[in-house]
Amino acid sequence: MRNEEMLEAVRKRLSARIEQLREEVGSDVDSDQSAREYVGRHDVLDAGEIAAEREQSGLRGELDALHVGEALYLEAALHRLAVGSYGVCVDCHREIDPARLMANPAVERCQACQEYREKAARHAAFDRPVAVPAR
Ligand SMILES: [Zn+2]
Repeated sequence: MRNEEMLEAVRKRLSARIEQLREEVGSDVDSDQSAREYVGRHDVLDAGEIAAEREQSGLRGELDALHVGEALYLEAALHRLAVGSYGVCVDCHREIDPARLMANPAVERCQACQEYREKAARHAAFDRPVAVPAR
């Protein structure tokens, strides 16, 4: 991921989607702490678990929660773009497979770390930190 034009294209794509989400939610995304917690867990939950989480969380509405969560997820990717750590796994700091980034430009973990987290989440509480797998 050293191609500047490609990074710029990703940045535009993420920004446009965030703008769209903001309009749909119509509120201040940054101030929503519960949504932050929501998005922190989002990547380790399946659809059924997300539905259960939403029921308990008391967020404004299911649709809003999804939009806010997605916007925060995308904003995190924009931040990584801005600071030059885009395309690097947030857990192990190795480069993420370009094909994986192509499929989801906002993806924040490499395959190994993602799978590790998903596995760990099935066995333990979500709010505990998950160690990076040894390689
Ligand atoms: Zn990793």
